[in-house]
Amino acid sequence: DFGLVADLVKLHARQRPDALAFRDEQQSLTWAELDRRMDQVACGLQKAGLVVGDSIAICAASSVAYASVFLGALRAGVAVAPLAPGSTPASLRRMVEDAGARLLFTDASTRALLSEVPGEIARIGLDGSTEAGTVALADGLAPEGECPDSPQITPTTAFNIIYSSGTTGEPKGVVQGHGMRWAHIKRGAKYGYGPESVTLLSTPLYSNTTLVVFFPTVAFGGCVVLMPKFDAGRYLQLAQDLRVTHTMLVPVQYQRLMSHPQFDQFDLSSFQAKFCTSAPFSAALKADVLARWPGGLTEFYGMTEGGGSCILDAHLHPDKLHTVGKPAEGSDVRLIDEAGREVAAGESGEVVGHSAGMMVGYNKQPEKTREAEWFDAAGKRFIRTGDIARFDADGFLSLFDRRKDMIISGGFNIYPSDLESVLREHAAVADASVVGVPSAEWGETPAAFVVLKPGAAIETEALREWVNARVGKTQRITRLVFTDELPRSAIGKVLKRELRDRLTAASS
Ligand code: ATP
Ligand code: MG
Repeated sequence: DFGLVADLVKLHARQRPDALAFRDEQQSLTWAELDRRMDQVACGLQKAGLVVGDSIAICAASSVAYASVFLGALRAGVAVAPLAPGSTPASLRRMVEDAGARLLFTDASTRALLSEVPGEIARIGLDGSTEAGTVALADGLAPEGECPDSPQITPTTAFNIIYSSGTTGEPKGVVQGHGMRWAHIKRGAKYGYGPESVTLLSTPLYSNTTLVVFFPTVAFGGCVVLMPKFDAGRYLQLAQDLRVTHTMLVPVQYQRLMSHPQFDQFDLSSFQAKFCTSAPFSAALKADVLARWPGGLTEFYGMTEGGGSCILDAHLHPDKLHTVGKPAEGSDVRLIDEAGREVAAGESGEVVGHSAGMMVGYNKQPEKTREAEWFDAAGKRFIRTGDIARFDADGFLSLFDRRKDMIISGGFNIYPSDLESVLREHAAVADASVVGVPSAEWGETPAAFVVLKPGAAIETEALREWVNARVGKTQRITRLVFTDELPRSAIGKVLKRELRDRLTAASS
């Protein structure tokens, strides 16, 4: 039981040609138009010599044109590497080369960033802007004559190559197959997607976070509304005006929306399902969303690599908001210790997961792929997450932290998330992040970066004492620094590497 999202577009185009498939702030596209554009792109790529297994890269702001090229490439069996415009030129060059992209789709906002990509790779402008070395979409992919037959696509044919956020290091190219995407689409059946759905997406199209909601919406015939740059007030206005039914937001966006001064004045009664993933989502914030925003709230825990996904339908389990839910249907999620043995019931360990939606592997990095795999005694393949967690007696998973972020101080394991939760309980604290700093005596000790609420006044020493009075002796924070904002990736993950670098820069 396997299908292709591009075939479903054909079906929607036949059944409801004039209904809207996509809209962004500039334009909208009906199903019939989308289908035609996809044919044009698929055929154009084939005429340019691309075959199943080849790839293209897209580095651009989210737009109707971006989404159409993505789907058109899929129709040709060509994999898409959607790249994060927040990356450096050197890193973008590495990603384009690593993906083996034959064509690069850009827009005016990303062109300068792509200066280091070799000139042999043709650039096609998604926004019609033509500059030296770039051709417009309509000219770059203008097929003439008969198009080749439909390509043979199987579940392991590459669908996309997604560079993981790079939260903990250099991004790795995760190759997801058509089978993995199909598994995500099937999961969507439970969340009421259909022809009447309107899905508002303000996270970028290059992130798996967005794609896990984008593709089910398309597959079930709903309309995707793309908002290239998030702004809380604008989001609320669009959600009300367009009668939005589904959305995906990361925790920091929920935070901004819930604290928007006019939040309660907007009519958000059209919402059916709201999703969240990618970073810790506090129980207090989930409770606030449930209390003031109609419709369900569902948290996904997982990674681009797939495997260990858990789902929390928060509206159904208000007593489990401190967890990320239970393993998704078809997912086998287990916990292992440092030696790679499964831990006893109730103990904590590293999350490993198996499911139908697992990556084929890291692109061209067999050793990295092997490091990420774990096999049980029966030889079943699991993917390691690097996250430390524990199951409660009801089978709900509580996440502690990433293994790489865990602080080992005098032989004790300290989870930064424990200290961050305590800090956030203080009335003056808006946000906090804790990292380990080298210590000659203890190996490492915890240091905290704190963002104060507007107008709040407290001294660093007073806050440090307040926290240290509430945590275990071995967990005490040795340094506390105020900062205006925490460094975050484009999808809202705190970049702890940058915080550690700030401390080492300051002390050297
Ligand atoms: P890299 O692997 O390059 O360092 P990354 O791990 O941030 O980047 P992703 O695959 O986007 O890249 O993110 C997966 C990780 O995000 C998970 O391993 C987990 O640490 C975190 N995460 C995902 N969902 C949740 C969630 N619901 N709550 C808390 N953390 C989450
Ligand atoms: Mg990761």
